[in-house]
Amino acid sequence: MTINTTPDLDGTTAIPCPDPDMTVLVANRGEIARRVIRTCDAWGIKSVAVYADPDKDAPHVAEATTAERIGPAALAESYLSIPAILDAAKQSGATHVHPGYGFLSERTDFAEAVVAAGLIWAGPAPASVASMGSKIEARKVAEHTGVPVIPGFNDSQDPKALAEAADRIGYPILVKASAGGGGKGIRIAHSPDEFDTALTDARTEAMRSFGNDDVIVERYITRPRHIEVQVVGDKHGAAIDLGTRECSVQRRYQKVVEEAPASNLDPQTESAMRAAAVALTRGIGYDSVGTVEFIVDAVSHEFFFLEMNTRIQVEHTVTEQVTGVDLIAVQLAVATGEPLTLAADHFDTVLAERPAHSIEARITAEDPWGGHLPQTGLVSTLLVPEGDGIRWDAAIVEGSEISPFYDSMIGKLIVTGHSRPDAIAALETALLSLSIDGLTTNVDFHRWLLLQPEMRLGDMTTRFLDETPLPRSTPFSGVSQSPWQTLSARRLTPHRSELAFDSPSRDDRWHGSARSGDAGTHIESPFPGLITELLVDVGDTVSAGQTLLTIEAMKMLHPLAAAGPTTIASIEVAEGQQVESGDTLITFMQSPSDNDTTGSAQ
Ligand code: ADP
Ligand code: ADP
Ligand code: MG
Repeated sequence: MTINTTPDLDGTTAIPCPDPDMTVLVANRGEIARRVIRTCDAWGIKSVAVYADPDKDAPHVAEATTAERIGPAALAESYLSIPAILDAAKQSGATHVHPGYGFLSERTDFAEAVVAAGLIWAGPAPASVASMGSKIEARKVAEHTGVPVIPGFNDSQDPKALAEAADRIGYPILVKASAGGGGKGIRIAHSPDEFDTALTDARTEAMRSFGNDDVIVERYITRPRHIEVQVVGDKHGAAIDLGTRECSVQRRYQKVVEEAPASNLDPQTESAMRAAAVALTRGIGYDSVGTVEFIVDAVSHEFFFLEMNTRIQVEHTVTEQVTGVDLIAVQLAVATGEPLTLAADHFDTVLAERPAHSIEARITAEDPWGGHLPQTGLVSTLLVPEGDGIRWDAAIVEGSEISPFYDSMIGKLIVTGHSRPDAIAALETALLSLSIDGLTTNVDFHRWLLLQPEMRLGDMTTRFLDETPLPRSTPFSGVSQSPWQTLSARRLTPHRSELAFDSPSRDDRWHGSARSGDAGTHIESPFPGLITELLVDVGDTVSAGQTLLTIEAMKMLHPLAAAGPTTIASIEVAEGQQVESGDTLITFMQSPSDNDTTGSAQ
């Protein structure tokens, strides 16, 4: 049985509008822009959308009271351009700026610029963004507040000092970008001989993604669960938590499924984590909604501070569903200076009165059976499940075009029940009724995921997806097209040059690599994207598994590697060039050898 817990509708936790004359500019796109606009609509206040050219017909633009163009597709000239967004705020008469998540949401310079322009920043004091935005700084602050941190090293950027620290900490270790987010700039090293590569790769990705390549080294927890605590503070010193979320189902350090509350957590660990999160919130004078992320060692039950996200999170929805609190409303209210009206024990009281469990499935435009490659296309038909306890927060509507410029997450299906088994059963049904035509998505992948014993038992670690063999194609045949048909249909050349993407060998996924396939005399781009790095020259002899180039699509870097030993005959592209799916990238003097197995087609 599911329950309807749409935030605010029962009136008990309704957050009053702090100012009927306020106008909120949303410095974001996609589902989170629509989500913020929904709260503005509920309050009857004005909202302003901003958009880059590819988004001119996007739903968030149509749904806001007014909209301002901020630039072309290039992120730096649109959603990441502080001047363009401040200009839009001025033009539209906005009083508040809501950053959403991603993009500029954790940029101290943006928070400061918003405040300096006399606008209200829907986030914490810029100093909190700064201290928590740096994993180096955040670890220090957490330690200072008495919150346990993962054994690690954050005192130097000298490669030798970092390598020595890794030896002391003990392998396996993680190299993590200090400015990191969204799972980017994280590399594992299982032994000292992998350290240099891990460091270089983490730094390269960090520089590209965050413009800063500082790193920390941490002990790699081998049986980790990702549990986080939703916190809220205000400008009057209040600090409370709204319970836990379980986010252990991850791929490439990115969350795939989230739940509230976290299940299978012993009560002592749960209350200690929540108390630590509130202590940190209070300790730094945090005055907004935020999330304190922890790693829980599934073996020892120890918990460690991971990081604090100083913004609304993708998975705020599951907390909203179980607590009945509109977190965007809270965020805007406390930003305006309102005191927090929620009691410190709100979460416990609400759940004691009405037990609830909520699960969110991130729906992405990716081919789960073909190496999770990002997909582009046009949503020709969209059928969405409806009913009590079902919530659909989406970037897409029928007719939406999924371009290669942005994140591949196109929607979130959130289902809430009285218990975890109820919620899982309801999510299974809801996924069956979610139909997105014209685009390959991970909907079936979620159906498969819910069938796994770990999921059913609530017994997942962040390693679960990597350790579970993925079917080669959808196990629900007849429901969706074969992804391989879709992929080959997009390849325009008649050559036998399959680019096969290794699925689920663990190491590949950790390193995010995709390999070129067998017997090709050239490799083609598997999707539209931007060539970010060319690592070989004409005449180079390359070996099996050697990375030839990297392509960026939907904000992810995808290395393409040689399937076998061969020699580079020609390079058809340049760094910085945009390529289409099927474009020839590199040709070989001879086919990479056939007796190599790493790149065999699936
Ligand atoms: P959250 O911490 O809110 O749960 P994530 O940690 O998954 O969200 O993502 C952090 C940020 O990275 C988000 O703000 C989102 O915009 C961005 N992001 C999410 N998914 C991807 C992705 N597939 N590739 C790159 N960036 C992503
Ligand atoms: P980001 O800022 O990219 O979200 P996090 O520090 O939150 O980076 O880490 C992202 C994910 O990587 C975590 O949810 C967890 O799955 C994994 N992870 C991070 N640090 C460790 C660690 N020391 N040991 C094991 N897993 C880790
Ligand atoms: Mg994180």
